[in-house]
Amino acid sequence: MTRKLYYEDLYAQEFDSEIVSQEEVNGSYNVILDKTLFYPSGGGQPCDLGFINGVEVLDVHEHNNEIIHVLSEKITGPAHGVIDWSRRFELMQQHLGEHIFAGMLYNLHNLHTLRMRIEGDNVSIDLGEDVDEKIIFEAESLANEAVYKNIPVEIIYPDMNEIKAHARKLPPEKSLESEPIRIVKIEGVDYVPCCGLHVSTTGQVGLIKVTSFENHKGGKRIYLRSGRAAYKWLADLHNEVKRAESELVCGYEGINEKILNLKSQIHDLKANNESLIEHFLEPVSRELIENAQTLGNNKLVKHIMRDSSQDEIKHLFRLLTSNNHDVIALLAGINTQGVFIMFGCNRDNKSVDVRSAFRKAIALLEGRGGGSAFSAQGWGVKSELINNALDEAENELAK
Ligand SMILES: [Zn+2]
Repeated sequence: MTRKLYYEDLYAQEFDSEIVSQEEVNGSYNVILDKTLFYPSGGGQPCDLGFINGVEVLDVHEHNNEIIHVLSEKITGPAHGVIDWSRRFELMQQHLGEHIFAGMLYNLHNLHTLRMRIEGDNVSIDLGEDVDEKIIFEAESLANEAVYKNIPVEIIYPDMNEIKAHARKLPPEKSLESEPIRIVKIEGVDYVPCCGLHVSTTGQVGLIKVTSFENHKGGKRIYLRSGRAAYKWLADLHNEVKRAESELVCGYEGINEKILNLKSQIHDLKANNESLIEHFLEPVSRELIENAQTLGNNKLVKHIMRDSSQDEIKHLFRLLTSNNHDVIALLAGINTQGVFIMFGCNRDNKSVDVRSAFRKAIALLEGRGGGSAFSAQGWGVKSELINNALDEAENELAK
């Protein structure tokens, strides 16, 4: 059984110990020490990382009361361990922040946390029931009030009756038989069984911030950050807001209004652009139909537009085919991105199927795309071959 120094001194960063065993497994080394500061992963909290005798600790887990350190290289004893303190302190801040927030949800609305996870800088908790965002932010606000009060965190091992009377949730059944139950108590805020590590006062959490939430299995998954992780998130957010302020030439209170204005301007410009395209393409389409060749009972329009957008080609296609039941259009638009082709006819014209003609042309252009019998489109890269591609398509249609 490994002596768990992390429960004895939360703030110790280095320790000396003896090697109990060392075993090679798949190129790394599983090392058991007589005592350790390395917290193993458990209770939603990731393990500590760091170094033992200068060798990197890759993972730490617990098995049968023994803490197994996975090292990248073999070590020779005695062992001197140093934990990555900045990581551990952040994990302790995040973990206590989660207790305070979950405690508030429970105290205010009897809401139970089904699952908690710390992943990187993100902490997520799952609630079994859906809650209104007002409740989430009410709990956040009160959780921060509990931070300002700087309440000490107590670790106690009460008897089962007391636990049943006070705990936010009960410990798992199997742990009841063996050992005393470790309760993490924050007076007036939370009382919960937990094997994890937490900063020793609420004040050290610094800040608790909900960053997002989503519907999850009929309940809610809430993401929050505490301590340094919350500060870093807010600092990033602030930088982004500063950039937006400078682009939009306004203070942060004005960003939303500016964006709404821009959106409405874009909407108007698009409408304007549409009518300009229409104005420009209408005579083109009329002339193309007048000069079209005959192909069976249909008229064939073959046309290439230079420096044109995909939108323009689609627009011309609509003008040619939507009111003319007998027009087959083989259109191509060339610009710096490559060549865009669009083949088809009116959807009611059942005498035409452009798919095999399209496949031949797009293969020649080394492009990709597809569609139906009356409308196929795609982009190619070999724009210099566009004349050949349209000729091939025409030959295919003539069959
Ligand atoms: Zn916990």
